[in-house]
Amino acid sequence: MAGNFCSHCGNAVSPMAAACPQCGHPVADQQATQQAAQPVAQPAVGQPLANPYTPVKSRVTAGVLGILVGGLGIHKFYLGKVGLGVVYLLLVWTYVPAIIGLVEGIIYLTQSDQDFAKKQGVRVA
Ligand SMILES: [Zn+2]
Repeated sequence: MAGNFCSHCGNAVSPMAAACPQCGHPVADQQATQQAAQPVAQPAVGQPLANPYTPVKSRVTAGVLGILVGGLGIHKFYLGKVGLGVVYLLLVWTYVPAIIGLVEGIIYLTQSDQDFAKKQGVRVA
């Protein structure tokens, strides 16, 4: 927890203490500095795609995979949509997934990074 260590000497300081007992450095100064720095540490507020757990994908990679090997659902696997990828794989003998993959690949390559990220639920690398 922040504020429990002296910023001057690193000594453990009680949260109740006004100053570090070892070097006399005021603890209140440290807390004020951290509070002032907090807004800078959160620049992503208001950006819906700022979730750090959102997978980062390349729009171009997904598009090329869709065009070249879309029939095998590779672009779906790449985008983390494993269930859909399996469906493509099972239907590969009909050539329908290849056609859909080709169309999807072209869509990926022609749409904007923003549209792609929103539609696929990823962050664009
Ligand atoms: Zn100290």
